[in-house]
Amino acid sequence: MTTYIHPAEITVRRPYDVEGDWILFSTCNYRCGYCFWDEDALGAKIEPIAPVERLAGFFDRTELTWLLHLTGGEPFIYPDFVRLCSLLTRRHLISVNTNADSPHIRAFIDEVNPGRVDFINCGVHERERQVRRGTRRFVTNVLAMRSAGFDVFVSCVMYPDLFETFPELWRRYASEGVVVIPKALRGTHLGRRYPGGYTETERALFREYTARAAEFYAGQFGRRDEPPTVNPFMDEHLFLERLPDYRGDLCEAGHLFVRIVPSGEIRRCGPDDVIGNVAEHWFSRRDRASICDVLECPYFCEKYRLPPGDAGRRHAIASRMRRGPA
Ligand code: SF4
Ligand code: SF4
Repeated sequence: MTTYIHPAEITVRRPYDVEGDWILFSTCNYRCGYCFWDEDALGAKIEPIAPVERLAGFFDRTELTWLLHLTGGEPFIYPDFVRLCSLLTRRHLISVNTNADSPHIRAFIDEVNPGRVDFINCGVHERERQVRRGTRRFVTNVLAMRSAGFDVFVSCVMYPDLFETFPELWRRYASEGVVVIPKALRGTHLGRRYPGGYTETERALFREYTARAAEFYAGQFGRRDEPPTVNPFMDEHLFLERLPDYRGDLCEAGHLFVRIVPSGEIRRCGPDDVIGNVAEHWFSRRDRASICDVLECPYFCEKYRLPPGDAGRRHAIASRMRRGPA
């Protein structure tokens, strides 16, 4: 098993006040069978809630420094996405979750400062990529972003049908300089719930290729102030047997972390607790941790949950997070 540093153990963070998981919209040019969006949502007409200048202006007016995780859908097909990134990175940090299939990536490289981009997670999505003959574009885009100084890594959702051919896929991409990190499936496939539905053979292969990828990424991840929030190297440790349920624990959601949904609503985390709106320019930030009562993306839980008995240590980390080095 690879070693990794749990987010709660990190003592030096980049200088941001609040992290936002910003789901810009649901639309995507791919149709992955394991996507948590359904077909209608993936094919939805794109209707921006406001011009990108107004969206970026909201964050500037909060007088906070944000780390915004831009995801979708496929963010590179969001109208004026590169301009949005350019505006946000003047005062804030971003990270991006993409299928790296877009011609706009060239403009992103030219216009966005890699020093203000925390990481870019490029998903392989192999079945769709084959259908759309996108492998060459993917490899070119990943290598171009890496050459330009962006902190890029590549992950692949391990849906059950993929395991048989995964070693060949891994070698094929690695031979091009693109090393793939396995990512656990979360959801239902052919009536089985995952990750609980993985066989022991599948888990062993998952671990083997995670270890191979870890060798490649050791230097890159080692140079970071803190690991990426969406860190596929966490999966074999935390998400390969079952998904965690933190309801009842204290969590910094609403204070150090928020979720922003396509309507522009800023939520403490789950759907029932709205604390702002990006398009309407209001944000009622909580001033402390509160009790988790939802099940949401576990990467953010791992970073912002306060394990029982650990609140004092995490508050100290939060204050370093605001002061940390650039
Ligand atoms: S690329 Fe991502 S958002 Fe698009 S269909 Fe696949 S999993 Fe969903
Ligand atoms: S789901 Fe995770 S991030 Fe959200 S409130 Fe619960 S522990 Fe915090």
